[in-house]
Amino acid sequence: MEKAKILIVGAGPVGCVLAERCANELLVPVQLIDKRSHIAGNCFDRQHESGVLIHQYGPHYFRTNDESLVHYLSQFTEWIPGNYFVTSFYNGQYFPFPINLLTLAQFFGKESLTPEEAELLLEEKREKIENPKNSEEFVLSRVGREMYEAFYLGYTVKQWDMHPKELSTSVCGRIPIRLNTDCRYVDHAFQLTPKDGFTAMFTKMTTHPLIDIQLNTDYKTITEKPAILIYTGPIDEYFNFCYGKLAWRSLSFDFKEYSEEFRQPNVQINYSNDFDYTRTVEIKHVTKQEHPHTVISYEYPQAEGDPYYPIPTNENHELYLKYKALADKETAENNVYFCGRLAEYKYFNTDEVIVNALHTFESIKKKHGN
Ligand SMILES: Cc1cc2nc3c(=O)[nH]c(=O)nc-3n(C[C@H](O)[C@H](O)[C@H](O)COP(=O)(O)OP(=O)(O)OC[C@H]3O[C@@H](n4cnc5c(N)ncnc54)[C@H](O)[C@@H]3O)c2cc1C
Repeated sequence: MEKAKILIVGAGPVGCVLAERCANELLVPVQLIDKRSHIAGNCFDRQHESGVLIHQYGPHYFRTNDESLVHYLSQFTEWIPGNYFVTSFYNGQYFPFPINLLTLAQFFGKESLTPEEAELLLEEKREKIENPKNSEEFVLSRVGREMYEAFYLGYTVKQWDMHPKELSTSVCGRIPIRLNTDCRYVDHAFQLTPKDGFTAMFTKMTTHPLIDIQLNTDYKTITEKPAILIYTGPIDEYFNFCYGKLAWRSLSFDFKEYSEEFRQPNVQINYSNDFDYTRTVEIKHVTKQEHPHTVISYEYPQAEGDPYYPIPTNENHELYLKYKALADKETAENNVYFCGRLAEYKYFNTDEVIVNALHTFESIKKKHGN
């Protein structure tokens, strides 16, 4: 292979998509590096020692409203339907989550509820807060204190080590409240899982004679300057933390094997008021793998470790904007493109980062394509 013209740092979804686009459309050699020992970034799935397919870095529920994105990814995978059902464990019972008519009926001990009855009930429960300023006020103004304390408060404190009062409305505001009996976790038009897993999909995407993948390779060790650099690592690290460190929330995952086919009723159970972990995940409910054993992942939020969630405070956002100004200059002057959740310090779902990567490719093509 001739000398790579494009270096891509990070072989997560963004790095893999950009490698594929550059190789297939610009027809130039691409060097794709990752400091981890695998591709696929946080979407990485693998076989557990038991043979059960697990999601190494938390459950990944692929969903999108963008049909053209499904079309693009279908070149690299077949799909199975995404069965994403979440329950919240409270007082010894499992409640459908996000809150819907069934949750409301079960929680308030009613046989059933019509949307109109639910609306009246919620009207009674809601706290009258006109312009909610934080996540606590937001939830209180939508569902009232009892359900806030049952489903949101403890979970949010565990997840962020911050009180919902300290977090913007967007943190709890992202979760819908439905006045119907739809128990699916998300509302998107396409809810799909790659048939053989995410790692298989990204492997197919990057298997190309012009793509050279080097794993266990940190960008820090690269000395040669490429003509074009696509950087999907942490933005503050790229600039040697010159303005200080951006804060992230991390997680640790404890995988336990059980000699039974299924252990829990659905893929994900949230624990707001019990245990130190926030959720347990049995991804077999989604992958539909046939196996006599199962594996549950116990998810523990923590301050230290791999960066998973940007901490949504104004202070962190301001700091990011300072780095963004440097990044824009670097793009204009030195052909360095920043894309992805670490480089943009933003929580994106996989569909969103892939769409962003495709847009970044269009900018690169416009400037550097023949
Ligand atoms: C717990 C959790 C659950 C999630 N669940 C969902 C979900 O259900 N549905 C969904 O759509 N999305 C989900 N996501 C989001 C999804 O993981 C991201 O959208 C996606 O992985 C982002 O892709 P990326 O390429 O930007 O970053 P990443 O996947 O993080 O990839 C970046 C890569 O860059 C590498 N890297 C960093 N620095 C360097 C360096 N200096 N040198 C070399 N390599 C480097 C990293 O090792 C990593 O492999 C979840 C994320 C988390 C954390």
